[in-house]
Formats: sequence, C-alpha cells, structure tokens
Amino acid sequence: RIAYVNGQYVLHRDAAVHIEDRGYQFSDGIYEVTAIYKGRPVDNDGHWDRLERSLRELRIDMPMTRGGLDLVAREVVRRNRVRNGIIYIQITRGVSPRNHPFPKDTPPSIVMTARHGLGSKPEVAAKGVSLISHPDIRWGRRDIKTVSLLPNVLAKQAAYEQHAYEAILVGPDGMVSECSSSNAWIVTKDGALVTRPLSNDILGGITRKRLIDLADAEGLRVEERSFSLDEAKAAREVFVSSTSSFAMPVVRIDDSVIGNGHPGSIVTNLRARYFDFLESASGP
Ligand code: PLP
Repeated sequence: RIAYVNGQYVLHRDAAVHIEDRGYQFSDGIYEVTAIYKGRPVDNDGHWDRLERSLRELRIDMPMTRGGLDLVAREVVRRNRVRNGIIYIQITRGVSPRNHPFPKDTPPSIVMTARHGLGSKPEVAAKGVSLISHPDIRWGRRDIKTVSLLPNVLAKQAAYEQHAYEAILVGPDGMVSECSSSNAWIVTKDGALVTRPLSNDILGGITRKRLIDLADAEGLRVEERSFSLDEAKAAREVFVSSTSSFAMPVVRIDDSVIGNGHPGSIVTNLRARYFDFLESASGP
C-alpha cells in the first residue's frame, strides 16, 4: 500500500508525520473521506467543497489548489489500485513546537491514504441494523469535519460493545443531532422523510445532501427539522446515511423495535436509488 505524506508517495507501513504535528498534539486539523466506486470518486465536488470550508472555518490555508489535491487523491487511488473503496484526506495546521496559538509561516501537513472495500456486506442492509442512544457530548462546531473525534470514538465504542451498528447522539433537550459517523433520518407515519437541518449542531453529510436530492426526484416529502429520540423510536422507518453506509436501514434503537422489525420500503427504495446514482453519476 502507498500513502501520500507531504509531497511524497511512500510505503504505507513507513508513512509518518512528525511528533510535533499539530494534528497529533491539538487535533488541529480536518479530514475528508470520499468513496471510490468503480475507480471514480463519488460526489467529488461536494467533498472538496466541504474540505475547503472546514479549512476556512479553522483558518488553515489551502496547502495547494483544489485541482492539485484532486490530482494527488486520484494518484493515491491509482497507485493502490482501488476500484471500490475510500480515500482518506487529512490536512493539519502543520509541524511547530507545541504552543497553542497558530504558528507563523508553517505549511499545513497533508496525508492521504486509500483503502479497498466500500460499505458493509449486502446482508447487513437487508437485515437492518441496531442503534444505541448516547449523549452527544461534542463541541459547538460539529459542522466542521475536524479530526477531533474523541466523543464520536467513545460513542461508537459504546455501540460496538453492545453489538450495535451506530450510536445515535441525543442532546440534553432529548433531540437527536446525528450519529457518531453518520446522519440520522426518520420516516413519519405519513411517509415524510425527516432529518435535522444544517447548523453548527451536525456535520453536513455529503450523502445526506445527495439523498435529499434523490428523495426529491422520487417525489418524496423531505422535512428538514429536528426530531426527538422518542419520535425516532416510534417512527415508521429509521435510517442512517454516510459515505460508506449510503442509506442504512435501522430496525432497532435501544430496546425499541422500529416498524415491523424489518427494513422499511422507503429506505429500501432510496438505497436502491443511491446505488443507481453510484452507477451513473460518480464520475468523472
Ligand atoms: N456525521 C458525522 C459525525 C460523520 O462523521 C459523518 C461521516 O463520516 C457523517 C455525518 C456523514 O457524512 P458523509 O455523508 O459526508 O460521509
């Protein structure tokens, strides 16, 4: 395997950044994960838009042009011969002796890796997955895709320890924000899709946006509003969305069975439309 680190393609097992990288010391950096489907990046523009926005919000300079980053990303995919997989891109504020304020004249660090394998086995989506509810203890800028993921890690670990697929994160007001690494959706009794509106409270998922567009095209009603954990447990359908889970049906939250305990028809259809999109429009 080959990784890209600060201007060089190196063997993955030898790839390293300096101990005084601010990503390591302060989580002072951002990342993106883009799916590669049949060798092509999926929703490529959306991911680069979000990466640029994350950097801008943290006042980290773009280390090279978007076109340059895109070329490197495609080269990493090519050198690793990834057809279906993911590319991981991380940019930090760079290497500097540890001190909280921004360093001057320090170039950002760039790391890219690629991995084979995209999504779970088909059986997982066919059966549907379980969620556990977990308090959302994250900071106030969840819209920035920072590498500062400790609360997400703890929530996901809690889910894994309870043999659940994901943790659905709930604020002190009982409202769902999203999941530890995906966005949360419900389908109401009258067939409307509901997902939390964009704000500082959630990460604006690229898959979330794509699913809204696909749902619109299907003539489904989409309501961008907050919903509570109780509403989710009583919903007709529940699903989560992300780059690697697409639209994943949920059949249980904690001890509550969702609907009849099987993936619902709306998410099943939407997931199929997402696969159509992957086939048709993931290029160039
Ligand atoms: N929310 C969080 C906290 C995430 O980490 C992710 C992705 O990893 C998402 C939502 C889904 O975003 P996307 O659809 O862009 O993968």
